[in-house]
Amino acid sequence: MSKTTAANRVFTEPGYGWCHWHKGTSGTAVLINVVEQASGPGYRQYACAPCREQRGLVPYGTKR
Ligand SMILES: [Zn+2]
Repeated sequence: MSKTTAANRVFTEPGYGWCHWHKGTSGTAVLINVVEQASGPGYRQYACAPCREQRGLVPYGTKR
């Protein structure tokens, strides 16, 4: 008999589904910026579609 270990790793990325610009939940939020701090772990900024449109934000890694 073989023992199978189901690797059900659920990635609950903090910040995903959250818009940092209007500070609310969003289903269209994408990663905009990765902020690296000198001390402590950095954090990620997500923005939803309307906020990206209004503020001209582009997804992280996308060149203008
Ligand atoms: Zn937003």
